[in-house]
Amino acid sequence: MIRDGEKESRPVIVGNGPERRLRLHAGTYTCERCLHTHTYRHYLGTKPRYCPNCHAQREEERAQADRIAARERSRRRRAALKKEQRERDAAVPALF
Ligand SMILES: [Zn+2]
Repeated sequence: MIRDGEKESRPVIVGNGPERRLRLHAGTYTCERCLHTHTYRHYLGTKPRYCPNCHAQREEERAQADRIAARERSRRRRAALKKEQRERDAAVPALF
């Protein structure tokens, strides 16, 4: 992603070869999330899937989903431990 004010080309070192410059291309893409068409500039031929706004939101959603999944995992682990403990307790013969 190129912000305004950045140089139109940047030096790229390929292996030990001479310094090359990549040209900036302009293009449009449709964000997969908000379905708006955005213009973008890029050095190489990959189109972004999401506009910067949606990209940030997506990252946030993913982080939140991770947190929920982690909470669920530890809840299940605690429940399993408790069940195991109960079964162990039940297996001990009553001595008194
Ligand atoms: Zn978008």
